[in-house]
Amino acid sequence: MSSHSLLLLPGDGIGPEVMSQVRRVIDWMGANRGVSFDVSEDLVGGAAYDAHGTPLHDDTLEKAQNADAVLLGAVGGPKYDGLDFSVKPERGLLRLRKEMDLYANLRPARCFDALAEFSSLKPDVVGGLDIMIVRELTSGVYFGEPRGIVKEGNERVGINTQRYTESEISRVARSAFELARRRGNRVCSMEKANVMESGVLWRDVVTETHQAEYPDVELSHMYADAGAMQLTRWPKQFDVIVTDNLFGDLLSDIAAMLTGSLGMLPSASLGAPMAGGKPKALYEPVHGSAPDIAGQGKANPCACILSFAMALRYSFDLGDEAGRVEGAVEKVLADGARTADLMQKDGGSPVSTAGMGDAVIAALDAGL
Ligand code: NAD
Repeated sequence: MSSHSLLLLPGDGIGPEVMSQVRRVIDWMGANRGVSFDVSEDLVGGAAYDAHGTPLHDDTLEKAQNADAVLLGAVGGPKYDGLDFSVKPERGLLRLRKEMDLYANLRPARCFDALAEFSSLKPDVVGGLDIMIVRELTSGVYFGEPRGIVKEGNERVGINTQRYTESEISRVARSAFELARRRGNRVCSMEKANVMESGVLWRDVVTETHQAEYPDVELSHMYADAGAMQLTRWPKQFDVIVTDNLFGDLLSDIAAMLTGSLGMLPSASLGAPMAGGKPKALYEPVHGSAPDIAGQGKANPCACILSFAMALRYSFDLGDEAGRVEGAVEKVLADGARTADLMQKDGGSPVSTAGMGDAVIAALDAGL
């Protein structure tokens, strides 16, 4: 038996509901694959605020810093809307990302064949789609100085600054090249080198990092606006896309929506390698706490289960186990199980959160 430390932070709203289904998958791994996890659980977001008056207690942050991987459910909810900005549930998540220095945000866009009908694109354009967007998460125009709204003569001027250092670019490029080696071995880097100096530097540094350390990976470059067009025209041409914070924000949302429902989308945020070579890592579904359906057993747990699959692959080097989990979700969908968010207007009765968990466990059993 191997042991890996995993911190679960279920959070608020549907977070604890979807996380309880992940717990079943974790238990299944221990019982059937000889992979044991040293699992601990703690509070984040509104739940942490209720208990401690802060959305992320220092002790929780320390546990997160020391865990091999952190899996978060969701934070937030209307109950906390009136709180001061400094203690809002979302601040807990932002602090976690910042303190762990998670600079590479991984957003896979994978289209399960059974859900191709949910895409806004034609099934032959999205069927079998499997791409990964790597977005730089801790720098760029969202953080650059100077910023603000200043008065110039008779009018106000809004200012934000796009700023990237060489080391910020090269470290996220490395994350993308490493990922590509484990996938289709191709990286497309996107910026606006035609109109932005920061884009020129981005292109230069990605090229230098490629030549020095990853010459075996195929590298191409694209202007980000052309990339947006290509993503909707023929997304299957891409394997890994690496881009900055602002363009990545937009491009990853476009790519995600090619594949259908929010309830299916996992994500990871990776930082610098720890001792042993694995990166610091936080895994989380893309969706929020869904207060409109919280507590009703309606939430789709697949995004959280697939986030755990990413942890298996990227933090624990358990690619085979990750493939089993992804394969189980794919089988369940192909067999027709649908939570409410995956139902077409005309039809059938949805399965509950636990029902979806039952189906995933049964599919894992069937794959033994
Ligand atoms: P949301 O993602 O919570 O919900 C948007 C819609 O998608 C809702 O109709 C919801 O019912 C549905 N949905 C989301 N996840 C689902 C799932 N797993 N299964 C079925 N349906 C699902 O976004 P929102 O409504 O804009 O935000 C609600 C709260 O969540 C806010 O407080 C917001 O700040 C917070 N939020 C947190 C995160 C996070 O924790 N990472 C991300 C986004 C929003």
